[in-house]
Amino acid sequence: MSPTPATFASPIKPSSWSWEATNEEISARYGVPIERVVRFDTNTSPMPPLQVAEMLAGNEWDVPVSEYPPSDYARLVEAAAARYRVERDELLVGAGADEILDLVAKTYLPPGGAAVLPIPTYGMYPVLTEQRGANVVRVPRLGASDGFALDVETVREATRDAHLVWLCSPNNPTGQAEPPGRVAELLAGLLEDARAVGRDAPAVLLDEAYAEIAGDTLLPLRFEYPRLIVARTMSKAYGIAGLRVGFAVARPETINEIAVYRPPGSVSVVSVGVATALLRDDELVRERVAAIVDERTRFAAGLSDAGWRVQPSLTNFILVEFESAEEADGVAEGLLSRGLIPRTFPDGHPLAHGLRLTVRDREQDDRLIEAAAEIAIRA
Ligand code: PMP
Repeated sequence: MSPTPATFASPIKPSSWSWEATNEEISARYGVPIERVVRFDTNTSPMPPLQVAEMLAGNEWDVPVSEYPPSDYARLVEAAAARYRVERDELLVGAGADEILDLVAKTYLPPGGAAVLPIPTYGMYPVLTEQRGANVVRVPRLGASDGFALDVETVREATRDAHLVWLCSPNNPTGQAEPPGRVAELLAGLLEDARAVGRDAPAVLLDEAYAEIAGDTLLPLRFEYPRLIVARTMSKAYGIAGLRVGFAVARPETINEIAVYRPPGSVSVVSVGVATALLRDDELVRERVAAIVDERTRFAAGLSDAGWRVQPSLTNFILVEFESAEEADGVAEGLLSRGLIPRTFPDGHPLAHGLRLTVRDREQDDRLIEAAAEIAIRA
């Protein structure tokens, strides 16, 4: 018997959680001015340490750090909904996209279940799958000459008994997006297969961590496939990885399924304040992406000039392929000895013969380009 895709991995299906009312809600419900609302319910301190108050004072994101974040992150959600052009009830806040991925695994992967993984892709998907006691079903992507795109038929076939599919576009570490229509084609196939056997369609997580840099999104597909969850982050184009802010975007009924597993306040008030201000800025991402793209072009050209085989990229990193894993290891050693840290891939990985390099700033990238030229001369 094949496993039935389950909505909830927990032995007991929790109906829902609701967290304590926010200050705004209490103010509105009881007609008390918001500045008169005092929290005696959260065991927090009335004041942060003086040093912290001084550090934050006067900033746009001057926030009460001795209190917990509002459990509904209402302002952040409003700003993100406007930015992504989705409804507020289609959004869930997480501590980076990584927490969103974790919540999705908790929601949809029962122990002994299965998640399909087109490889190579982001390393957290198999980790999260295994943490749930579920099986990872690896499906190779097409080759470099096909842009490492999804092999729709093979993924569809592998998903017949699976609960979740992990997709990523643009994909890390290949740096390329799925060809137009490819994800839609897969989703249509998955719906058809689920209907044919009278089951719920599997959940599909589409990781769009690099969407702003690529300038494209597949968010509208959620209307065709209600169990599509799109993960977004402020770690890449927005440049605040250390503040840990990410989102799930999905139809409200899907968001409600995932929200059951959400902790009440995993994103700090400082992060919420900064992220909200950045999301409200209409020019920021356009400017930052233009700078990333310019620098990526320069960086890629410098590496090509050094004789390195550079893959096209729609992200803020570049995949470089070498003749063999040994050559990639040698180059990595050469870079490390100069204090430059590449992303390497272990033996047996489909890109063991490659290195992934983040596009940083002109000065830092020049150090890498110079190193590439020196390493090439020695080889
Ligand atoms: N998904 C992908 C594809 C990523 O490359 C990364 C970061 N390396 C993440 C998610 C994690 O993002 P965050 O910082 O928002 O947790």
